[in-house]
Amino acid sequence: MPHTAPTTVTSFIDGASVAPAGEPLPVSYPASGERISELCEADAAEVDRAVSAARKAFDHGPWPGLATDKRQDVLLKIRQTVLDHVDELALLECLNTGLVLRELKDRHVARAAYNFRFFAEFIGQMAGQVYGQNPAYQTVVTREPVGVAGLIAPWNAPLALASMKVAAAIAFGNTCVLKPSEQTPLALARFVELLHEAGLPDGVVNLVNGRGAVTGQALVDHPGVDLVSFTGGTETGRQIMASAGRRLVPTTMELGGKSANIIFDSADIDQALNGALLGIFSNNGQQCLAGSRILVQRSIADDFIDRFVARTERIRVGDPMADDTELGPLASEPHMRRVLGYADIATSEGGRLLTGGQRRDDLGDGYYVKPTAVMAPNNDARVCQEEIFGPFASFLTFDTVDEAIALANASTFGLVSYVWSNDLPTVMRATSEIRAGVVWVNTPMMRELRAPFGGYKDSGVGREGGEACRDFYTEPKTVSIPTAPLALRRLGDN
Ligand code: NAD
Repeated sequence: MPHTAPTTVTSFIDGASVAPAGEPLPVSYPASGERISELCEADAAEVDRAVSAARKAFDHGPWPGLATDKRQDVLLKIRQTVLDHVDELALLECLNTGLVLRELKDRHVARAAYNFRFFAEFIGQMAGQVYGQNPAYQTVVTREPVGVAGLIAPWNAPLALASMKVAAAIAFGNTCVLKPSEQTPLALARFVELLHEAGLPDGVVNLVNGRGAVTGQALVDHPGVDLVSFTGGTETGRQIMASAGRRLVPTTMELGGKSANIIFDSADIDQALNGALLGIFSNNGQQCLAGSRILVQRSIADDFIDRFVARTERIRVGDPMADDTELGPLASEPHMRRVLGYADIATSEGGRLLTGGQRRDDLGDGYYVKPTAVMAPNNDARVCQEEIFGPFASFLTFDTVDEAIALANASTFGLVSYVWSNDLPTVMRATSEIRAGVVWVNTPMMRELRAPFGGYKDSGVGREGGEACRDFYTEPKTVSIPTAPLALRRLGDN
């Protein structure tokens, strides 16, 4: 394995790396289990320094008050710098996550760069509002940055997800403190250095590393933090939102999912099969928007599921750095054990294991598993209700459109949904009645950054995307000005 990881990862505050100190935590390569680096955990005092740096950069500028075209110049330079370092960033991310290197280069790092271009362009077209209906006044609404954002990211797509938060926060003139997952600090540490190499002023983006309960909680509780954007698990989200709520700090919550992927008999079955496989096995199966509950119309179910299983068994599992690998290792040993545990849960609940459910011991000490599919006994089964967050598909069958929609909605989650059908009335009913933040029709994941992304129910609160981010990262300010001197009542002058 090419070993390019730094020996130690520390915080990055006010434009400089912090000297190693604090609790050392291991950072491992999931393809071998080998310890490749060490993270120095930021305690509350270090978080305080990071927030203070962000506060100073916000309160004393120049970033929040910079002319938009100057801020755009920096964002576009960041985009180019990220693209210039695609190989380095992808390799660091691969070493840390076990995600397939090719996909990291083609999708994740490319997306990270695009996020900066997108928000650079967005702010170039922003405008306020003017209300002139009352001729005595002109009322103008402008938008101002909110302040210091606390940005908390998960381990499953660190660079792609955290870069979106950073790009949005700083594009609208905020400053921020980013806390990546303690499992995956490597690529984001380099990314924050690159932001500065691209010309970002010191203190605008600060980085703290460490566990959620220590570093993350200190960030959320810090009185200098004005808003919190979180992506991660639902239970963590509840806790963070409660903490932030006590201080009346606004939050966005991008949480878990158990999304229905509905295959109607009116679908193009080849397309639906390709889409269903991508929907559950992309990103090593570790994605919030996975189509993890596959609902198939009974008339086509036997054939569809047989073909799905045959293709699943041919998926190339292995070295995430190899060009032809389709599924790399899971992110950590405890996570692998948890995912595999669901195969036993499925059978103990009366489900049937269709394929997989085992570790790939033949691939060494890495956290490799066979991609898995089960036939669930019913939608109440744990494999249909709980987020497994691995390459694990749970199948159910249905007879009617009504039944399919009812099954899709019988979930505490509501992040996304997939609908495969070429029958327009079926598509129209499904898209209007499914209770999820996003419905994809005849396509696997399609993340349109201009449109809101986020979940109903336990999948989240708030949205990310162009206008949704503008609304979150800015405060509207209403200014009313008389158009001519007013004839004011003269209290005390009679
Ligand atoms: P997690 O909730 O365990 O951790 C997410 C982040 O929160 C980490 O950085 C962690 O250190 C931090 N954290 C934990 N406790 C904290 C606390 N008390 N205060 C502050 N920070 C704290 O999630 P994970 O295991 O890293 O990621 C997987 C989860 O993320 C899955 O549930 C997945 O569905 C979800 N996810 C959602 C989206 C989305 O857009 N909806 C995208 C990706 C992942």
